[in-house]
Amino acid sequence: MTRGKHRESVENQLFTLLKKTPVYFNRAADYKELSKKYDYVVVATGKDTAAKEMGLWIDYGVVHLRGGLVFGTFESTSSTVYFNTRYAGQGYARLAPWSSTQAIIGLCNIGCSEYEMDRLYTNFLEEENLAHLEFYYKFSLPIFSTGRVSNFKSGNVLLVGRSAGLTERLLGTGAVEALISGILAARAMIHDLDYESLVKPLQKHVENISAIRAPYENLDNEGLDRLVAMINTPGIKQAIYNTGINFIDMAGGILNKIKS
Ligand SMILES: Cc1cc2nc3c(=O)[nH]c(=O)nc-3n(C[C@H](O)[C@H](O)[C@H](O)COP(=O)(O)OP(=O)(O)OC[C@H]3O[C@@H](n4cnc5c(N)ncnc54)[C@H](O)[C@@H]3O)c2cc1C
Repeated sequence: MTRGKHRESVENQLFTLLKKTPVYFNRAADYKELSKKYDYVVVATGKDTAAKEMGLWIDYGVVHLRGGLVFGTFESTSSTVYFNTRYAGQGYARLAPWSSTQAIIGLCNIGCSEYEMDRLYTNFLEEENLAHLEFYYKFSLPIFSTGRVSNFKSGNVLLVGRSAGLTERLLGTGAVEALISGILAARAMIHDLDYESLVKPLQKHVENISAIRAPYENLDNEGLDRLVAMINTPGIKQAIYNTGINFIDMAGGILNKIKS
């Protein structure tokens, strides 16, 4: 999904749909102050700060993300995900073409130190033959934590999206869950419904996907190769891609049941 200032970014698409809602740019909101003035406050900051301050955050470790926009020749209809423990550890790296001449590359490592990340990022670029590419810009995101919340609401403060831990911990996606939880929060406030019970199935889905991480973390590079080969086996491949059955949710659900 395109993010940021681009005309077609998720933010701008949503912004053009708003009819009357005022949007204040460059103004940091304080949910504690706002909660005194308004019936409800929805925290959608993409940060764990509020959940931590309210004692609702259950932490699952930190993620380093480094990459940039590069020039080159790319197949714009496909995207490459690299699983290689030598530089990604239990994370992964990615090459996502933006066009036939530009691509976003990134390394997502879990739990390594800042110093190690420099070396691992260099290893990633060299091992995957990307070191020669010219960068248009580079990014190194502030380290962020992954986790989930024990409750989605405290008093009149509701948590949604990443602030509510609704980003799965296998690959780190959560844009759709952020949108859905925002809709559920709005529905709860307007119709005086229980937000907690509305949003719980969404958290279950995110936790099912996240549960796949535990067996994945135990695989070395040979194990990862076997896993990818297995997913590509005729029959299994068609079942995963064509049947519409949500295998990840099913497998994660079973793993979560075994755990509890
Ligand atoms: C590099 C990267 C790539 C990703 N790719 C994908 C993908 O392809 N697909 C996918 O599903 N997910 C992806 N994700 C995850 C996805 O972006 C998040 O799960 C999702 O954006 C969470 O939405 P959110 O609204 O909770 O938070 P955000 O999108 O982070 O939005 C939070 C907003 O709140 C603002 N803000 C912060 N503090 C304050 C404050 N005090 N007052 C006012 N405003 C404040 C921020 O400036 C920001 O605009 C990606 C994440 C990253 C970092």
